[in-house]
Amino acid sequence: MGITDTAYQKCINPDCGAQFDCWQALFKCPTCGELLDVQYNWDKIEVPNKLSDFAKRWANRGNPLDFSGVWRFRELLNFCDDKYKVTIGEGQTILQQNNAVAEYVDMKPGRLYLQYEGLNPSGSFKDNGMAAAFSHAKMVGATSSACASTGNTSASVALYAHSCGLKATVFIGSGRIAFGKLSQGMDYGAKTIQIRGDFDDCMRQVQDVCTKLGLYLLNSLNPFRLEGQKTIMYRIIEGLGWEVPDWIIVPGGNLGNSSAFGKAFYELKQLGLIEQIPRMAIINATGADTLTELVNAVRHGQVHNKKLLWNDGGVNQAIIDDYYADLTARNFSPHTCASAIEISRPVNLKKCLRALDICNGVVRAVTDEEILDAKAIVGKYGLGCEPASAATIAGLRHLRSEGIIDADQRVACVLTGHPLKDPNVTVSYHKEKQGEFSNPPIEAPNDLDEIIKLIK
Ligand SMILES: [Zn+2]
Repeated sequence: MGITDTAYQKCINPDCGAQFDCWQALFKCPTCGELLDVQYNWDKIEVPNKLSDFAKRWANRGNPLDFSGVWRFRELLNFCDDKYKVTIGEGQTILQQNNAVAEYVDMKPGRLYLQYEGLNPSGSFKDNGMAAAFSHAKMVGATSSACASTGNTSASVALYAHSCGLKATVFIGSGRIAFGKLSQGMDYGAKTIQIRGDFDDCMRQVQDVCTKLGLYLLNSLNPFRLEGQKTIMYRIIEGLGWEVPDWIIVPGGNLGNSSAFGKAFYELKQLGLIEQIPRMAIINATGADTLTELVNAVRHGQVHNKKLLWNDGGVNQAIIDDYYADLTARNFSPHTCASAIEISRPVNLKKCLRALDICNGVVRAVTDEEILDAKAIVGKYGLGCEPASAATIAGLRHLRSEGIIDADQRVACVLTGHPLKDPNVTVSYHKEKQGEFSNPPIEAPNDLDEIIKLIK
């Protein structure tokens, strides 16, 4: 059976619905300009009868595809032959039950789980998507790739590109990238172009550059990347003994993760591999809260009439256009310490609306102060995370105090990036005593007795 029998690309716009085979690198529907999905002919794929069957792959982990936390679920993202598949050992991530963080967010012991995607090779969840997208790049014969990035994408692209012999150019906003992430892109050998602008400016430029120069685009517009990101949910289910949690909580930036997670659960339900779809909470930073404003239609405590819904694909484009026109008129640029989600024009907005519909989702925004305090708690009691990841914990506190999430429901927060991604934010928080949990270094004279007094 040829692989083109099993998967194809399809426009998400129900009025268009154009279909394309997987041998093309398109990234937007050529007919109507909307986002594309990867869809499967499930009757032509041998999917296991139950999710626990995937556990057998561990016995064969000497095979890199069985070791990969992405490709060991390969029947669920079956768009390319094994000979094209790229892996650098991504997806060996930990689902940690954490009672101390549970107490901070007012959850009962044993009910809160943290999914540490910062343990991927490049230190963020992006590696899940890149394993899939670079496999597609190999499949279509691409030799040169590019992305716009707030940082994690550029690090992951640079690492995968040199691992599989592609050139990489990354576009970053000047002064808008965390130090750890900037260092990675350069160290992994990518051509780094700093544009005088923010992420949204970079995103516009990279699309034009890719079209003009025929580069393979690796932003989350790329539907194959989102296929890889689905596997984060499979691993959470695996970590829970092949059961689904009640809630998934994820930071909201360009909205690729939330889109991928919704698709993952929809497909698992469709295949009869899960009985119930968990609910999803997407957490914005207040300085970059496009999704919150559009979906909740609340601004500064006032309800506005722009509630945006998936509506079976009939999304009200005028609401989005008006909102973006207002951002442009105000010369608005998003600002948050959580640079990974400092995005005001999320490219996956419509797919995210679909995911909210699938998962009966909610959206909240949290302040930088809340993010930094939550980050310190994850650092003190867990394995640590970057600021954007901690938005999930801060958001969970809101949802607990509102009573949306019960204290004994089982909740999994996706911690997207490693704490060393953004050392400046961490050092400032502690040294400059920016929050309740700041833990600054203590100045001491070079004197044994004085030092002992400080430690006692
Ligand atoms: Zn279309």
